[in-house]
Amino acid sequence: MTNRRASAPADVAFSFLTCGLLSLMVACAPAFGQRVADRDPAEPQQKVQKPRILPRPSGALARAAIDEKSMRALIDQLVACGTRLSIASWSDASRGPGCGRDHIVARFDEIAKSSGGKLQVVVDKFEATSVRTSNKPAPMENVYAILPGTDQKLSKTIFIVSGHFDSRPSDDQDTKADAPGADDDASGVAVSVESARLLSKAGANGKGGYRATLLFAAVSGEEQGLLGSTHLVDWLKEKGYTVGGMLDDDIVGDDPALGAPHRVRLFSGNGEIDDCDSPSRELARAVEEIDGRAAIRLVFRVDRYGRGGDHYPFYKAGLPAVRFTEPLEDYHHQHQTPRTEGGVQYGDFAKYLNAAFLGNVARDNAEALRQLALAPAAPVNARLTGAVTPDAKVSWSAEEDSERAGFEILWRETTETRWSVYTFAESAGETVLKGVSTDNHFFAVRSVGNNGARSVAVPTEMEHRPIPGPTKQ
Ligand SMILES: [Zn+2]
Repeated sequence: MTNRRASAPADVAFSFLTCGLLSLMVACAPAFGQRVADRDPAEPQQKVQKPRILPRPSGALARAAIDEKSMRALIDQLVACGTRLSIASWSDASRGPGCGRDHIVARFDEIAKSSGGKLQVVVDKFEATSVRTSNKPAPMENVYAILPGTDQKLSKTIFIVSGHFDSRPSDDQDTKADAPGADDDASGVAVSVESARLLSKAGANGKGGYRATLLFAAVSGEEQGLLGSTHLVDWLKEKGYTVGGMLDDDIVGDDPALGAPHRVRLFSGNGEIDDCDSPSRELARAVEEIDGRAAIRLVFRVDRYGRGGDHYPFYKAGLPAVRFTEPLEDYHHQHQTPRTEGGVQYGDFAKYLNAAFLGNVARDNAEALRQLALAPAAPVNARLTGAVTPDAKVSWSAEEDSERAGFEILWRETTETRWSVYTFAESAGETVLKGVSTDNHFFAVRSVGNNGARSVAVPTEMEHRPIPGPTKQ
């Protein structure tokens, strides 16, 4: 105790302030936490200038702009198709996945009209095979609405919001049973379509639109094995797009617990790079930063335990993709043939949906897409060097961009969830972080536009230094 007092007078002063004299005799929890933190040497040792922080882009989407009624109307139309199981009929206008497709196309067409023709509606037909198509090629269709980016280079970068319009009863081979699929996943389709309405409207009012391209997707085949989104990954590659980010909305309409609306969960996988999170994790952080911690509950795992979704094929391809899902799922309402058993009602009906929650999710998706599509391209080749020296060196490259203000160099304690801005750099190349150890923090870089929009952060990868060990025989 005497030693500690002599070597760290600040600690003692803190203890007196927070806990009074008692702290010298008994444990004092808050002061204890503080003292441990203060006993690490400062890094860097000199005070650093406050970084330049540009305000985020103006014109944030208002919650009141969300058209909850038209979202619900589309969900009701989809439910009225009876089933939308992907292996049911694609040619029956009143029942099956073809019925679902027709309603989505009709709604996108309406939205396209009021976008001044900017929004392009595409029906993408393909075949896919899985155990759940009896290992035979089955016809599938995805519906896309595309809002082309206004920037020549950035228009090849695409940001996607997607829901799946197929549904399933208890038996994923049963084309006769009803499968209303209101929450799973007409809700996600409604979010995608409402995002199209909100963002194409803003793009149509002469205010310049978005730099990157936006894709509003409603895919099929999810319940037969993520077939529509797997196909979408290939389709995008074939069209020459770079995926800037993919937001998968699946089961985003219900919030039955007391105190609703709650935060939506946002799942992101870890990735497989040592000491460095996946692009999906960085996308999740970007979405949380845009929409706020009161709106987004980050979950650092690829999906719910033992479950899968349409972000997964993107994630496995190394692309940034995340999943939005409601806070507390009711399994009586998922993948269940409608019925009453033992007094319990099973089935995924629209009556269980919570319009306020679903509207929040639509707003959060659309605002995230808006800011990401307004941002400059993310930096590339972000590296961290300077091991076994007093200074960390962060380097990256980026193409010329007259609408970019510069770059934020981000850092965080290795145990910390979120990035903070360490410094601002006007140009790409190398920035030396004087007196900052390479070892105690993670680092990343992101681009910042003159408009304040930030790209997704790119974590720095380390140079690979061989770790000594026994010689392999
Ligand atoms: Zn689903």
